[in-house]
Amino acid sequence: MKSIKNEAAARCPNHCEPFDVEYWSLVSADQDPDLKTAILGGELNLVQCPECGAFFITTGI
Ligand SMILES: [Zn+2]
Repeated sequence: MKSIKNEAAARCPNHCEPFDVEYWSLVSADQDPDLKTAILGGELNLVQCPECGAFFITTGI
């Protein structure tokens, strides 16, 4: 199994303009130990809004 990366528009919870991000829709922890670390740390798909600086998790829209 391979990790899958997608691109999508992220929407800030503060209703800023959407912006493009890359996010992981499938993570193979065996092949990508760094990603597994990100998951355990709660940092997977954590993005920052360029407009207001808010951090939030994107799942793709
Ligand atoms: Zn924002």
